[in-house]
Amino acid sequence: MDPSHAILFEPVRIGPVTAPNRFYQTPHATGLGWQRPQAGAALRGVKAEGGWGVVCTEYCSIHPSSDDSPYGFLTLWDAEDARALAVTAEAIKAHGALAGIELWHGGAHASNRMTRVPGLAPDVQPAHFHLPTAARAMDLADIRAFRGWQKQAAFRARDAGFDLVYVYAGHDYLPFQFLSGRTNDRGDAYGGPLENRVRLLREMIEETKEAVGDRCAVAVRLAVDELHGPEGITSQGEGREVVAMLAELPDLWDVNVAGALGNDSKSARFSPEGFQEDHVAFVKELTTKPVVSVGRFTSPDRMVSQIRRGIQDFIGAARPSIADPFLPVKIREGRADEIRECIGCNICRSANNEGVHLRCTQNPTIAEEWRRGWHPERVTLHPRRESALIIGAGPAGLETALTLARRGLEVTLADQGATPGGRLLQEATLPGLQTWLRVRDWRVHMLGKQPNAQLFPASTMGADDVRAFGADHVVLATGAVWRRDSVGVMGLARRDFPAALTPDDVFAGAAITGPVIVYDDEHYFMGGALAERLRRAGHEVALVTPQAAASSWTAYTDEQGFVQARLMELGVRLHLSHLLCGQTEDAVRLACAYTGRESEVPCKTLILVTGRLPEDRLFRALAAEGMTVSRVGDCLQPSTIADAVYSGHRFARFFGTADADLPPRRERPELR
Ligand code: ADP
Ligand code: SF4
Repeated sequence: MDPSHAILFEPVRIGPVTAPNRFYQTPHATGLGWQRPQAGAALRGVKAEGGWGVVCTEYCSIHPSSDDSPYGFLTLWDAEDARALAVTAEAIKAHGALAGIELWHGGAHASNRMTRVPGLAPDVQPAHFHLPTAARAMDLADIRAFRGWQKQAAFRARDAGFDLVYVYAGHDYLPFQFLSGRTNDRGDAYGGPLENRVRLLREMIEETKEAVGDRCAVAVRLAVDELHGPEGITSQGEGREVVAMLAELPDLWDVNVAGALGNDSKSARFSPEGFQEDHVAFVKELTTKPVVSVGRFTSPDRMVSQIRRGIQDFIGAARPSIADPFLPVKIREGRADEIRECIGCNICRSANNEGVHLRCTQNPTIAEEWRRGWHPERVTLHPRRESALIIGAGPAGLETALTLARRGLEVTLADQGATPGGRLLQEATLPGLQTWLRVRDWRVHMLGKQPNAQLFPASTMGADDVRAFGADHVVLATGAVWRRDSVGVMGLARRDFPAALTPDDVFAGAAITGPVIVYDDEHYFMGGALAERLRRAGHEVALVTPQAAASSWTAYTDEQGFVQARLMELGVRLHLSHLLCGQTEDAVRLACAYTGRESEVPCKTLILVTGRLPEDRLFRALAAEGMTVSRVGDCLQPSTIADAVYSGHRFARFFGTADADLPPRRERPELR
């Protein structure tokens, strides 16, 4: 180990328990929820194996009045739940880590779609999700009952084997709704001045400690700033006062910037590493208890600096632990160069927001530990030393090459480009997306360590070259190209726009004259990011999209609000809910997505961001000769970078086995 990193491996006492080091996996969603306890246990177990000293679960409901269906949340409503969660505690503790559980009540944020129990809140208020319903006001009997649920859940958590139990007053959930003047309009002892609004949180901490404090540490997760200015909790104002009032009460402070989740787990496009520091740094001045916070930390030197400068005692991480569950072990073993750094793309957030298994651009094995038996650091050796030629060194080709090389094949990776990276070479030049190049950098670096792998840039491969090479296996990872027509997610009718450019043309340096129209019927980052880039370059730019919001799919990555605000602030004009239906020399014709009413907007350069088509010319040439080759990534199915990496990994994992055809393992409902 680099001696300067040794401080990260010091044990830290948290109330009655001791963490073996300072690596703290803060609670994060997995999309697995109470229905998939074994998958959840395996995921957390791998984190502990990877060296995280504290490993926490995701949000765990303490009562049916807090139900986040259809999203993946845990439950501790009865003894059966405790039995299911004991598997997770055991999996974490098997590796010497502390097991933490994030007890949760969502209040007006929980929609109770499954249980259909009326929602609870400090006072009557609309459900905090977009639903035509309200949460009812809690009277004093409700508050007493609620405190009892927290205690009951704490007992169950302790009996299930957890070492650390949360009192969760963050992310706009119930105890936080009591804290914030924005969401607490009560006139009794739980409302009004801050001393009253903090009462419930104080009681919860005291009572949770009373219940399980002899055996378990009691952590408070607090949003010290909800980024709503002085009308809400702020780190300069009431957030600071709350910490001062309760300073020594919990065994640990887990603090962040929240309100909405998007503020806490901001993507790299909108925040640098360590972005929460200015808001949370004050906490350690007010308490002697250990403090943890997050900030997408992947650099060991920055982690050390956080500790040495007294910002926090632990290095809190959700996303960095997803991207590389073995981050701590790699630092401990002096292999920090092997850390697969989170790129801050928030594809992991999209999984939970869609209610499906966690996925990650950098780590294709996340949430596959149980259902596929994939381990992030181990692969099975291929029984024979065969050769594989992989064409295309984008995310899919790089991942395929690395994984096949780890499995012992003789790997040759060829790309026509002067440098590897494929689509990343273009996409990472967009504003705020530089970190995406880490997808390439880590794989190229790790391939360099494989004596059985060779990378050949500047090598255009035609069918003759492939045949002449004579590899045992050929895998095409040749990517995709942007469409030159109007076929997109919403506009399925095909119209050709011969004068239009595609993102490929823009990256290749095509001449652009304003006014520019970016037509986005793909809805992820490309349309918005291109518009931003061209606007910053001084062009007059408008974004046209059939959706009602700019870059609408980025709502799943918690970025949409930030994207649209930035475009508007930069002066990009937005034509929402409009389809492209024609082009003249100086204008484009648009049709309202609802009424079909047509209008014209000035345009000299039209850029189509509609969809992508597989680059499959080589595939078709080889197939015409009767050659059997495999395809991975965008040349098989144009999609996200995460899907390209996953596709390559999946292919290489299953290579030479019959497992690819097997369905993933599923956890079955119990039949009584
Ligand atoms: P993916 O996301 O599936 O990895 P990319 O578009 O990122 O796809 O990468 C595809 C790569 O394949 C690009 O770097 C491209 O230059 C390369 N490529 C495409 N066709 C050939 C070919 N015939 N010979 C060599 N390289 C190719
Ligand atoms: Fe990081 Fe992206 Fe992976 Fe999330 S999906 S952990 S943001 S690399």
